[in-house]
Amino acid sequence: MAWAALLLISLLPFASAAEWDYSTNWTADFATCGGQYQSPINLDSNTAIPADFSSLSFNMGYRILQTGSLENDGHTLKFTVDESKGASIAGGPLNDRYILSQFHLHWGSETGQGSEHTVDGHSYDGELHLVHYKSNFEDLAAAAASGESDALAVVAIFLDEGTAWDQHRGAPEYETIQELKMAATKLSRPWRGPQPHVFEMEIVLEQLMGSISDLTGMYHYMGSLTTPGCNELVMWFVMDTPMHIRGHGLMDALRKNLDAVGDPIQDNYRPTQELNDRKVYYYSGAGSPTTYVIVPNAVFNHSDGYGNGTIGQCDLILTAEECLSAGRQLSNDASIYFGTQTVADEPAGCYLYYDDEVWYNYNKTADDYAVSYEYQPICYENPAQPNYHGYDLVQNDNIDCEIISRSDCQEFADKLGISFDDYNDADYPPGCWYEEPTAYYNNMTTTEPCWYEAICVCKKP
Ligand SMILES: [Zn+2]
Repeated sequence: MAWAALLLISLLPFASAAEWDYSTNWTADFATCGGQYQSPINLDSNTAIPADFSSLSFNMGYRILQTGSLENDGHTLKFTVDESKGASIAGGPLNDRYILSQFHLHWGSETGQGSEHTVDGHSYDGELHLVHYKSNFEDLAAAAASGESDALAVVAIFLDEGTAWDQHRGAPEYETIQELKMAATKLSRPWRGPQPHVFEMEIVLEQLMGSISDLTGMYHYMGSLTTPGCNELVMWFVMDTPMHIRGHGLMDALRKNLDAVGDPIQDNYRPTQELNDRKVYYYSGAGSPTTYVIVPNAVFNHSDGYGNGTIGQCDLILTAEECLSAGRQLSNDASIYFGTQTVADEPAGCYLYYDDEVWYNYNKTADDYAVSYEYQPICYENPAQPNYHGYDLVQNDNIDCEIISRSDCQEFADKLGISFDDYNDADYPPGCWYEEPTAYYNNMTTTEPCWYEAICVCKKP
């Protein structure tokens, strides 16, 4: 049995019989590390070839709670996912589905270094690697042993450690990042158990991807593992938007972990390698802009997961990150409180709770009828939809919002199928506002704020 276990370990891409560390020259023991298609590389934004990877998608496995185990393998902290939960990617340049097996991190001893890839020569504070293998292989080890140039797909996310100023601005951090930080801290404590120290935990993968889940901006090229044996079998996807991490948090916790000889694991990144004759592609992610709306008393249309864009039927916001940006946008408050949960008795998806909290409920079939003035769903409208009404509904204020004409207000009411009336009152917001089932037009010049019973309808410049 011991022999079988040893054989398995030697096939794993991140462990090897031969000793190595980041200060030694790898090519002596691992010839492939001197190859022509090595990773990481510097990504040059000026010469990258534009490409359309809009069909690349992360499946639902990224959005649900995943169980797995975190361990220190002497070179990094590695989280091995429970593959039965089926997180995978497909589309874009991938010609098959790729199953997520593990993720791990690279980090520096201080800020300003730690990422493996660089963009236009710039290093980030760390880099997260989500390692997937092509689904026709039995597992990661089999894919890595295959030698096929597209056996693995690694999604890389830069980590950017915040400054005290960033924290002051209140950028929220996802539960998964906080749990990872706690687990990394616990893992760093002395351990004398008979088994390797492994920490079981639950995470939501999507929360590791920040704004990446809506696929803005990514580089793609063919390369290698960035640790010995440097096998050239990786389709790389490097996201250009970094994940923001609070200062004195996850990165500090990572740096507390020790390697096999008792030194802190840090600066566990490989220098950039020559591009040689490879091509680097860039997908800008530029799509049609999304308009978010707050819809009181909305009832979701679960029939296809997408409503028709009218009030009363609301397109569910599909990701927590999108929910956060919508909440910030609609409340004009970059530091609005944000939380995530999975519960059955609150609205599905994204909603504003009172006017000062944004929540994202992972339970997509939760109670529609829990919606009330405390729970106001935030939904999105796609301008391409036939019923797009063309106006922004402004919940909390009328800042930066142009008052529309009375006839436009009437047209808005007609499109929604609600009644229309005049309501000239100095105690109400100016212009067009509505409280179902009626839209009102106030011709008084007032500075009254919009609120949940007087939701302003105006034009954003
Ligand atoms: Zn890596």
